[in-house]
Amino acid sequence: MSPLDKITLVNQVQPWYGEIPVYGQYTFGVAGERFFREIKDNARIMGTVCNSCNLTYVPARLFCERCYNKLESWVDVGTKGRVHTYTVACLNLDGSRISEPIILAMVQIDGTCGGLVHQLGEVTPDKVKIGIPVEAVFKAKAQRTGSILDIKYFRPC
Ligand SMILES: [Zn+2]
Repeated sequence: MSPLDKITLVNQVQPWYGEIPVYGQYTFGVAGERFFREIKDNARIMGTVCNSCNLTYVPARLFCERCYNKLESWVDVGTKGRVHTYTVACLNLDGSRISEPIILAMVQIDGTCGGLVHQLGEVTPDKVKIGIPVEAVFKAKAQRTGSILDIKYFRPC
């Protein structure tokens, strides 16, 4: 079968092994730059406000996704939110078992729309429920790099 032949059955799919040297660089953009700088420098989670829709977006963005207004009003939204949804990871990407399960959650910061996907900490999977209140735990300032991982995890509060 050549790469141009059309595959009609799943069992005809064959893997091709190798490496593709693809490199990329992701930029935070204007809103992301300030969002992550505030986390790094001040341990603050910032959102942008659409006054027309009365919505605060976290993570911050430049335009309202509902009315397309440019968002120029920034607000400190605090560090507390609720678990919007979550999952428990028990396997690594290679299929091996993780010694301690990792709880991944979508956390919606109070009073905002959107959310942050992050780990939960200081809690076991059996104690996690949708809707439980959580707060961000930040790394020490000297350890922060301007990444979402400057938040170590969210813990129940
Ligand atoms: Zn709007």
